[in-house]
Amino acid sequence: MSQVRSYDAIIIGGGAAGLMCAIEAGRRDRSVLIIDHANKVGNKILISGGGHCNFTNWGAEPADYQSGNPQFCISALSRYTPKDFLTKVESHNIPYHEKTLGQLFCDGSSTEILNMLTTEAMDAAVTTIVNCTVNEISRKYGFMLKTNKGDYTCESLIIATGGPSIPQMGATRYAYEVAKNFGMKVTDINPGLVPLRFRGEHEVFCRNLSGVSIPSSVSCRGITFKENILFTHRGMSGPAILQISSYWKQGQPININLLPDIDVDNFLLSELSRRPKGEVPTILSSVLPRNFARAFCNRYQINKPINQLSSKDLLSLSNKLTNWELSPSSTQGYRMAEVSLGGVDTGELSSRTMESTTVNSLYFIGEAVDVTGPLGGYNFQWAWASGYCAGQFV
Ligand SMILES: Cc1cc2nc3c(=O)[nH]c(=O)nc-3n(C[C@H](O)[C@H](O)[C@H](O)COP(=O)(O)OP(=O)(O)OC[C@H]3O[C@@H](n4cnc5c(N)ncnc54)[C@H](O)[C@@H]3O)c2cc1C
Repeated sequence: MSQVRSYDAIIIGGGAAGLMCAIEAGRRDRSVLIIDHANKVGNKILISGGGHCNFTNWGAEPADYQSGNPQFCISALSRYTPKDFLTKVESHNIPYHEKTLGQLFCDGSSTEILNMLTTEAMDAAVTTIVNCTVNEISRKYGFMLKTNKGDYTCESLIIATGGPSIPQMGATRYAYEVAKNFGMKVTDINPGLVPLRFRGEHEVFCRNLSGVSIPSSVSCRGITFKENILFTHRGMSGPAILQISSYWKQGQPININLLPDIDVDNFLLSELSRRPKGEVPTILSSVLPRNFARAFCNRYQINKPINQLSSKDLLSLSNKLTNWELSPSSTQGYRMAEVSLGGVDTGELSSRTMESTTVNSLYFIGEAVDVTGPLGGYNFQWAWASGYCAGQFV
């Protein structure tokens, strides 16, 4: 019979949250094992931020996060702040810069953040096993895990397996399965920070403009984001669309202001008096990408001199430019989603420790929990903060 190995804490999932939790628990002299089914830990860190890892955001506040209980994340985010993570980054001499809107990126590669975490985990005597599949978890000697690499027991079990976004990289719903098996609630799960798809005329419109980007503000259900939109082969993406996708629900429209920094009524009236015979696509090309202006005017049949538009036409054009209503057919799903919205119900967890309120010594951290941030370093900040907090108790 093979030997059963015992640890104080076993963390299933060696991503951002799992590594952070392991470092903190290891520093408390807890014996810690990370189990990951991938061939290496931290794969999502490596691909994050276009390879430069947007590792936190200066402005990350609890109010920025979506959750069934918006209060839940307050404790963790206030105990481990963006400044705390930045101090870690600086102590490893990793060069970084602020890109925009408080988003902090590595100057070099995301590998530097992963190396920093794996080095700290090693220094804290954390053991890691990759290519390891957990086949069964039972409550025996604390928890007993049967895996393809042997049997393990632990006092504290931490589930840090993230959510199902990017399944092609090995992302799974494992955390939800474990929670349900232990009788805990899991909220609805949906792809978030994901490009939107369109059907019919607008799909063709987008495809023809694929690659064109416009600084805009995009609204849905009373929430607005002002960043770029990007036309793609299948629909629309870009930061403003990714952000709004986390609020969009099937069947609802999104509204786009294509000229959020311009008083459009004044602009059209002054163009009318300045160059009455000016073609509308030419006039719009002075404030929008030329190919977009042409396609937009073709689509709405306003390929004519501006003085041929009636007052009603001008008003309608102004409305289209500032409140362009579009109805996405769907999102592009988990294959393209940066996060999974929803997760283990926060009503089932202690906001101080991340421990289950019904199953002693079982913890959930990171994206597995129903706390989701917007684009821009917020989701890593949640992973660091929730991992840090659990790491003080496991
Ligand atoms: C393309 C992309 C870019 C992103 N860029 C950013 C960014 O720049 N800034 C930002 O803040 N956020 C970014 N995110 C989001 C961020 O990566 C996640 O929010 C964060 O990684 C969540 O951390 P986690 O530790 O909870 O889960 P993960 O990082 O997903 O880690 C989960 C770990 O669990 C393992 N695992 C899964 N299932 C099992 C199982 N059954 N058994 C064993 N192991 C398992 C996985 O292999 C993985 O190592 C990005 C996401 C994507 C997809």
